[in-house]
Amino acid sequence: MIPAAFDYRRPRSLDEALAALAESDGSAKVIAGGMSILPLMKLRLASPDSLIDIGRLDDLKGVRRMDDGRLAVGALTTYAELLESPARHYGLLRDALPQIGDLQVRNRGTVGGAIAHADPASDLPACLLALDVELVARSVRGERTIPIAGFFEGAFTTGLREDELLTEIRLPGGRDDAGSAYVSLQNPASGYAIVGVAAVVFGAAGGGIAGAAVALTGVADAAYRATAVEAALAGSDGSPAALAAAAEHAADGQTVNGDIHADRDYRSRMAVVYTRRAIETALARLSA
Ligand SMILES: Cc1cc2nc3c(=O)[nH]c(=O)nc-3n(C[C@H](O)[C@H](O)[C@H](O)COP(=O)(O)OP(=O)(O)OC[C@H]3O[C@@H](n4cnc5c(N)ncnc54)[C@H](O)[C@@H]3O)c2cc1C
Repeated sequence: MIPAAFDYRRPRSLDEALAALAESDGSAKVIAGGMSILPLMKLRLASPDSLIDIGRLDDLKGVRRMDDGRLAVGALTTYAELLESPARHYGLLRDALPQIGDLQVRNRGTVGGAIAHADPASDLPACLLALDVELVARSVRGERTIPIAGFFEGAFTTGLREDELLTEIRLPGGRDDAGSAYVSLQNPASGYAIVGVAAVVFGAAGGGIAGAAVALTGVADAAYRATAVEAALAGSDGSPAALAAAAEHAADGQTVNGDIHADRDYRSRMAVVYTRRAIETALARLSA
């Protein structure tokens, strides 16, 4: 439980942090809230030469409304702060955030850390995939925006480059024709998702469903959009039979995980059940 020796740097500005990251040439790790990286280091599953502590960079904190109506969430915003922000407007975030970890984890764990870490059982990646957010990354080479679709490449692997910091997460503006929900089957010990499903449903003018965004976590190597479910929902009448039929496609095209908590068959079945529940709840909120 004692990590290997490492250097520690605490930059006072974003530029200083980016320069330190570039200089380290891949041998340094960023630490934000430390909720994932510290346990890994203590177990010696990670042994970076140095830690660059970005935890006090005020530029990366807080939630602001952009001119185009979107919400820009600083990467260092904690789960607890996000829940108190205008982002609580999204039903799926109101569902997901209070059940992540415990109070300490929600007070320390950051949105940027959760995404950059890309744990395959983490709750937030599914929510942000369903919201189709845009990510902002910075390095000494400049800034780029990254659509979240395709960002989670595998277990603990993302499209972030070695010298990049995630700085901001941009949530779409609210829509009156949308309802959303997040439901999960939790590992009772850790709270991590055995299966977690985030759904956003868009209503059609004459009733029924115009379109949907559905994302799953805990099921495969990385959180993913269930495109076959979305295709089955688009243009459907939103009846219980239509929702159940769409949910059957929850794990289409995925290699489903099996482990001591849930074997592959059980997890596949739960993916269907929880997908149906997420869509039902999102649709009910749309009609409410
Ligand atoms: C007891 C416990 C229970 C938990 N339960 C849950 C749960 O139920 N559901 C769930 O989803 N999660 C759970 N977690 C995980 C928790 O949500 C994450 O550990 C946390 O959000 C990660 O954020 P952090 O700021 O602590 O990241 P850190 O641990 O500081 O960093 C994690 C990784 O991300 C990188 N990183 C961090 N910030 C950035 C950035 N801005 N740019 C680039 N890279 C960055 C770091 O280099 C590191 O590799 C639990 C954790 C604990 C300890």
